[in-house]
Formats: sequence, C-alpha cells, structure tokens
Amino acid sequence: MKITEIETLVCHARMRNWIFVKVVTDQPGLIGWGEATLEWHTRGVTGAIEDLKPLLIGEDPRRIEHLWQMMWRQHFWHGSGVTRSTAIAGIDLALWDIAGKIHGVPCHELWGGRVRDFVRLYCHLGGGNLEQFYETPVDHAKQFGELAQAAVEDGFSAFKSMAVPPTMPIEGAKPVRAAEACVSAMREAVGEEIDIMVDCHARPSPAMGMRFAKALEPFELYFFEEPCWPENLESLAAINAAVSTPIATGERLTHLAAFRDLFEVRGCEICQLDLTHCGGFTEARRIAALADVHRIALAPHNPQGPVSTAASLEFGFSQPGYIICESVHNDVPWRDDVVQEGFSVDQSNRTVTPNQKPGLGVEINEDEVRKHPFEQEIPQRVFYEDGAVGDW
Ligand SMILES: [Mg+2]
Repeated sequence: MKITEIETLVCHARMRNWIFVKVVTDQPGLIGWGEATLEWHTRGVTGAIEDLKPLLIGEDPRRIEHLWQMMWRQHFWHGSGVTRSTAIAGIDLALWDIAGKIHGVPCHELWGGRVRDFVRLYCHLGGGNLEQFYETPVDHAKQFGELAQAAVEDGFSAFKSMAVPPTMPIEGAKPVRAAEACVSAMREAVGEEIDIMVDCHARPSPAMGMRFAKALEPFELYFFEEPCWPENLESLAAINAAVSTPIATGERLTHLAAFRDLFEVRGCEICQLDLTHCGGFTEARRIAALADVHRIALAPHNPQGPVSTAASLEFGFSQPGYIICESVHNDVPWRDDVVQEGFSVDQSNRTVTPNQKPGLGVEINEDEVRKHPFEQEIPQRVFYEDGAVGDW
C-alpha cells in the first residue's frame, strides 16, 4: 500500500479558511481526510504541505509513527514551528483516518476503545472589543448576560467568552471592574449550574493577568484561559498557584517538549492542545500521556473546521483526561453541504455520542468546497490607547 498524492483544499468559512488535507492511496477509494487550518497563514501551511510531500509519496500510509518521525526530523529543521507542525498535523490526522478505514473502525477504537459515553460541547460568546467595554459599559455587561442566557436556551451547559478588555502592560482599576461587571452579568443570567469560562487570549501582561484572575475568582469559573503570554511559564505558574480557578493554556504550543516545560512548572490545570497545530494525533497522544502523569485535564482548542472537530471528538472518546469539546456555535449555514459527520449531537443538552463510522467519520464534498475559495482573512489588529501595538 502506497501514498500516491497529498492535496489541500481551501474552503473560506466566514473569518477563516479551512484547509482540508486529502491523502490519496493506491487502493481504490481509500483516502484520508485531515485538517490544517491556520488563520492568516493559509498559504504558508499549504506551501509547507507541498514541501513535506516528497518525503511521503510512495510510502506506506500504515506506518504512521515512522512517517511522523520523517516529517518531524527530516529536512533538517524540526517540525516545531507552527506552520510546519500544522502541516504535519493535517497529514497525520488523514493517516489515522486511513488507518481507521483500513480496520473498519472509528479512530477511538484504534486506541483502546471509548472511555466515555458522551462528550459535552461548549460554545463561544465572543467579546473582547476595547471600545465596547468602555463606551457603553452597562449595556456591554448586559449584552454578555443576554448572550449567556441565549447559549443556555440553545442547550449549552458551558460557554466561553472574552469578558476581559485588552490592557496595556500596567493599568489601574478600570479594566478589572469592567471584567467583573461582565462576568457578574453572565453568572446572574445563568446561575451556578452552568459552567462559565473566560478567555484572555493571552493579551494581559502577567501583572494584569494576575489581577484579572484574582478579581474573577469569586465567580467560580470553570476555567480561566491564557491570562498571559504562553511563553511566560513562570507567570502562568504563579497565577495558577495564586487562585483556586483552574488556569487553561496550550493552544499555541506545538510540540511535546513545550508541554513538558509547561507541566513541569504547573502552569495550568487544563491543557488546550490543538490537534491541528501540535502535530496531529501522534504527538497529541504523547502530550496526553504526559498530562495524565500530572493529572492535568484536556480541553482541546477547536475553533476550526469540521475535520478538526471530528478529530477532537475521536480524541475525547479515547482520552480519560478529556473534559469538554470546543464547538463553533454559529457556523457557516452551508456547513452540512461541505461535510457529513459520523457523530450526532443531542441539541437539547449539546452532548455528542460517539462516531460510528470508520476513521474520523467525515465525508467532504469537494464540489461544495470549491464554491468557497480562499479569501484573505481580515487583519485583526489591536493598538493600545497610546498607539503602541497590543495582542489580538
Ligand atoms: Mg483561547
């Protein structure tokens, strides 16, 4: 059995371009689907996949670990840069899809069978716009409350929001009070049975991240995400130690050694590895084993497309430490035309039962994908009040 071709199909879906990766074999009808979506870097990733192709064409797709080692270690540079680790992930997911199809079982069955009956989904309420926090603060907090209520009415038992304004490296009470007002409005709207998460998008400095974490501690968040840059390991650890709220991070880490460093300092309680950026299932399973040693939970980052979601769910049904799956609530209206999924969602409580189809269980309609060609993403730019560059 041989790999004969690796193709990328780019599908523009609202704010991002989904990059589907198709690995073709010499066996009639046997193909694998992966995803390598990386916002604002679409051409870089499709180019990186082109660069990896000469390593893989003619190789046996069943030798997944062997091929992963080739993709990671050959070509001199290791695969840890996000463009390449995303390209590797897209191909790796497709190879596991092929493995499932060869054996006629869903991917989670390849790794020892399912470890739970269902997976809970959460949605994202958005937010995080500087002007909205300060121009109409009362209305803005109220809006968070309304969005929270709407998510619960849609069946979600958990949701995330960017209820923290962007801040300069050091600011006073104003942004902290603004964040408190928004989180308070959400808690008041949904009560204590619902899990609320707040994502800082790694915009605060460690000092501001600490202040937000302490101010929001009384609201008993399910988790508090990226309170400072992911490379500030000692600061993540300090914040995680200072509050009882579990700290979450990991979506921008791309390889096992980076997670080792994070876990060793206890920089988080929830590991948000991204299956499409951390080298796919092959590396993610190593990261999960390492997280397990530290009793750190898994909640993969997943704002991308349908193959990424299918991958997150296959992973979730096979990993004991997996707690919840991120989902895109208001996706493109033509999603079902592009993809058929193997799992089903109970809309009344937004839980997912396992995929029954082989591999990732997804079927991509290539003609429908071609109706939505690449479009340049809108630049997301944040500047502080004084004009200096901030993080988005
Ligand atoms: Mg995040």
